[in-house]
Amino acid sequence: MQAKAFSIAALLIGLHWGSAPLGLAASLIFVVNGHRQTLRTQEIGGREWLSLRQVAEAVKAQLEWDGRHRRYLFRLPPASLIVTPGHSAILLNGRTYLLSTAPQLSGAEVLVPAELLQLALEEIYKRKRIRWDAEKRLIQVEERDYSLRGLRFHTYSDHTRVVLDLTKPLAFSWKEDPSQIVLRVKEGVLAPHFQRQDLSDGLVRSIELKQRLKGVELSIRLEEKRGPIKVFALKGPDRIVIDVFREGAWQLAQPAPAMEPTIIVIDPGHGGQDSGAVGPRGLKEKDVALDIGLRLKKLLEKRLPVQVLMTRSEDLFTPLQQRTAIANHAKANFFISVHVNAAMRSRTVGFETYYFTKDPSDSSARASVLQENLAVNLEGVGPKEQDNYLKLTVTDLINDVYRDESSALAELLLDELDQILKVENRGVKSGPFYVLAGAAMPAVLVEAAFISNPLEERKLMDETYRQRVAEALFEGIARFKARYEKRMGMTLGGRSG
Ligand SMILES: [Zn+2]
Repeated sequence: MQAKAFSIAALLIGLHWGSAPLGLAASLIFVVNGHRQTLRTQEIGGREWLSLRQVAEAVKAQLEWDGRHRRYLFRLPPASLIVTPGHSAILLNGRTYLLSTAPQLSGAEVLVPAELLQLALEEIYKRKRIRWDAEKRLIQVEERDYSLRGLRFHTYSDHTRVVLDLTKPLAFSWKEDPSQIVLRVKEGVLAPHFQRQDLSDGLVRSIELKQRLKGVELSIRLEEKRGPIKVFALKGPDRIVIDVFREGAWQLAQPAPAMEPTIIVIDPGHGGQDSGAVGPRGLKEKDVALDIGLRLKKLLEKRLPVQVLMTRSEDLFTPLQQRTAIANHAKANFFISVHVNAAMRSRTVGFETYYFTKDPSDSSARASVLQENLAVNLEGVGPKEQDNYLKLTVTDLINDVYRDESSALAELLLDELDQILKVENRGVKSGPFYVLAGAAMPAVLVEAAFISNPLEERKLMDETYRQRVAEALFEGIARFKARYEKRMGMTLGGRSG
């Protein structure tokens, strides 16, 4: 109960009609389920007031004068409100709330401060959607449940995909000009948590969603140079997809020449303010991961005709989604995220490798996922959005396509770690790792030893041991690359023949 009172108090503080210039008499636009009405307001003593009768008419409530107690009864079953002129306490659904000032009698009317309207609406339409637009002085009550539940986007090498997730199929139309696409979803009702998204991925600048009276408007601001745009609807779950292609993407989409160099992205976990796990003697996961990653890069570049990109080469914080975006943008062939493990029990030792699946493969996979996804909290992404991102990425089959390749790479890496380091092999596992979720290529995460174990921490402190870990990862990648290129070569040969 206490919590409820608090949230209402927070809402009241959030009511800012003050920015709009108020004359002696002004008005509010009040829209309930698309039905538009105007409520007249008055300014008295620097406050904005409404007549309670007007409010009752707008929401089709019953208003009675209780002469015995000198109070007004406002009924909209199951909601009820009791207002006593001259008293700032009101009774709303049986609970007492204090207004910032007392309702007043003015002729035959009772005037209430405008804040009461918000309070009453929040209570009456509890689970419904109420939108306040102080600038337009608009209050919109939408009793229907929202139909636009999510917005996702992803940067691929040749296009950027924007996906609007719907709760049911909805009609839409769109217009494009050189600088933007505006898509209108008829009768769409926006879920309450959308924010403007800045992508600046070289193709899309920003994405914005707005609730309009007749539906939802999506604006995608574009960079000057771009290729064609495709807009289409998909089912199961219902969604609208907008693909913005790069300039010349159609040519790029042709089969690539067989001798294109292999691009490998190494992603040293954590960095900057995100230390990752910390060992009993203070060794930090971020430092170990970076060192192993840089050693692996050196080995790869020295021994194989490959190009290696690092998601970070210094002690820097890099958002998880950006890490795969780097790989996708570079059209990388493989993505390897390097981490060290930590466990509640300090006795736990060994190596694990992971690939992406919607659900964790076992309890230790669940623990690793929780630990490795923590960094997202430093990026200001809410848990719901994280959840949606992971779930919906899977439905778009980005990872399904690469699942077999990813699990094969994970297997080869673990096999080499096992053979070269003679470590405890804890198996190939899988789970919803945020850092792997959007990779459009085979992608794995390596958990090299447990920094939480004093013995393994000591090993990880030793640079010869870290070099051996890098050697083992190198061998695994080399084997995978050979297998992968054989297969790709066959595919390309088949096509050109
Ligand atoms: Zn980690």
